[in-house]
Order: sequence, then C-alpha cells, then structure tokens
Amino acid sequence: MGSVGGEEAMEEATKNHEERIQVSVRIRPLNDKEIARNDVSDWECINDTTIIYRNNISASERSLYPTAYSFDRVFRSDCSTRQVYQEAAKEVALSVVSGINSSIFAYGQTSSGKTYTMSGITDCTVADIFNYMGKHMEREFILKFSAIEIYNESVRDLLSADYTPLRLLDDPERGTVVEKLTEETIRDWNHFTELISFCETQRQIGETSLNEASSRSHQILRLTVESSAREFLGNDKCSSLSASVNFVDLAGSERASQTNSAGVRLKEGCHINRSLLTLGTVIRKLSKGRNGHIPFRDSKLTRILQSSLGGNARTAIICTMSPARSHVEQTRNTLFFASCAK
Ligand code: ADP
Ligand code: MG
Repeated sequence: MGSVGGEEAMEEATKNHEERIQVSVRIRPLNDKEIARNDVSDWECINDTTIIYRNNISASERSLYPTAYSFDRVFRSDCSTRQVYQEAAKEVALSVVSGINSSIFAYGQTSSGKTYTMSGITDCTVADIFNYMGKHMEREFILKFSAIEIYNESVRDLLSADYTPLRLLDDPERGTVVEKLTEETIRDWNHFTELISFCETQRQIGETSLNEASSRSHQILRLTVESSAREFLGNDKCSSLSASVNFVDLAGSERASQTNSAGVRLKEGCHINRSLLTLGTVIRKLSKGRNGHIPFRDSKLTRILQSSLGGNARTAIICTMSPARSHVEQTRNTLFFASCAK
C-alpha cells in the first residue's frame, strides 16, 4: 500500500467495505449494423440486478446455460454512463482519496462498449477528484496520471512517442513498477483532456501498424492521488496519503475463449491472450477469498495491477454486452466470467 501514516483514514474508508469484487453488467443498445440486419435483442433486465435470456431455447441448451443471471447491478441499454459511474464505479474509484488502491475493469467482447464505458467513467472520476480537492483545503493534493498499453505481453508508455517496450521491475517498497514510465501531474481539466487525447493518438498509431490492436491490447490509465495535511493545522495524523486508481480497458473477451461457438478449438494459440486468461484466474481466486496462491506473476497485466487487486484494494468489474441475438455465444461467455467474479 502506498500510504504513510494513513491508517486511520484507511480504517474509516474500509469500515463498511465488503471484501468482495463489485460486478455489474451493462447492455449497450443495438447498433445500426445490427438493426439493419434485423438482429434482435433476446435479453431483458427484469429488475436492477437480474438479466434473463428470453429467446426460446431448446431443452438441451437449457441444461447447458442459465436463463437468469444476477449481479450487483445490471444496466439497461438506456442507462447513461454517468449512472453506471454513480452506481457501479464511484465508490471504488474515489477510495483513492483515502489512500486505498483500486481497479475498475471493463470486460466484454469487441464492440460491446468497453472503451465507451471506461472513458466516461474515467472522466467522471477525474471531475469528482478535482471537486473533492477543492472542498478539502486542509490538505494539499497532487494528482498524477500515467497510461500504458499491454500488447502481446509487451508494455508501452502511451504518454511517450517512443515505442520501446518498457520493463517491469520489482521494487521492495512499491511492488512491481514499470521502468521509465512517464508520469504527468495533472494541472487542471484541460490538461487532463490533452493527456487523454495524446494517449488516444498514440494508441491509434499503434493500431495501424498492428492488425486489430485494440481488440487484442489492454489499456491501463492510472490516476495517483498524493495528499498531505497542511502544516498550519498542526495535525500530523494521516499526514500523508498516496494511492492509485486504475481504469482498465481490457482486450476483447473473445481473446480469452479457447473455443468458438461450435465448441471447436481455434486454429492458433495466438488468439488466446495470456494477460486476459491470467486475470480471469486471479479474479476467480480473489472472489473466493484472498488466501492461497494467487498467480499475479503469470502475466504483465496482473503483475502491474497486483497492488491494486489483492489485500486491501478495491475492485469493480463492469461487463459490457451486446444485446444482439447474433452475439449470444460471446455474451454468455461474458456473463459466465461475470458470475465467476462475484
Ligand atoms: P469496445 O471498446 O468494447 O470494442 P466501444 O466502446 O468502442 O466497444 O463501442 C463500440 C461502439 O458502440 C462505439 O461506436 C460506441 O460509441 C458505441 N457504444 C458502446 N456502448 C454504447 C452505449 N451504452 N450507448 C451508445 N453507444 C454505445
Ligand atoms: Mg475498445
């Protein structure tokens, strides 16, 4: 944990915290392409926590797949990103100001809405952190930002025009760190939007040289909040706090499945994404309790996120899904992953 002398604040923030991963599902609207081919939605939210599959399915299918799935929260296709933020991410994200590390993941097949959801959530969090900083003049804050992309187990700095892969180092105090990673101090909202567009440009440049990169790569945007009590208050409790919140836009979840819809193994192992598979294992183990061996070290993604996943850290997973009948197999895989994370 990156907190110095912040035990009290941490206790406060963890008091009502269930040691559990928050799992929610967001359904996007049918898109124009799906509508044009008369695709339909077979999924229905019967309340705020349960989604059911409505299409008539054969008896054999019924024995294989559940028809109802329940999570902490299910968002209908007409829910706004702000609402998703408020109800599925805000609490976890804002624990960063109390010195608690956290991670928020978007998991789902390509084009299900991961980037759309995660970028909105990142914006809302930054706005709320600025707001918090303005209301707590008794403390001095520094808000830092860094961004990486993991493609084929190779780590790249999205705030740098240099493509050289970065190495991971084990720091005795800070855990795994990305060597030479650029970290910018965010001055204000405009500066933040500039940094975000720089990252997007860097990511797109990468994509044109690497086929389909966005479906295969993971993006981690990290906000680090450092704060200390201003001296004149003569308060040395919680004098200094530091924590990070990670916004993780994962590779398309189709990269985690070894089988296609017919149950046939895909041609090549290169379709399978090591970081995504390891994350699945880590999340499943964490959701069953935090003891026993957790294979953080088996992938770059889980190594980088280790200090924001285990221990005292908080985690929220937002699984995004297309409502379209044509995507039902991938959607079931996503809901299965979500069920295992609960
Ligand atoms: P992914 O990152 O999972 O591949 P995107 O976030 O890029 O998917 O979404 C694919 C397309 O669908 C984008 O054009 C995006 O704007 C749109 N989209 C995704 N989710 C929603 C939503 N909840 N409401 C409206 N449009 C959405
Ligand atoms: Mg995306």
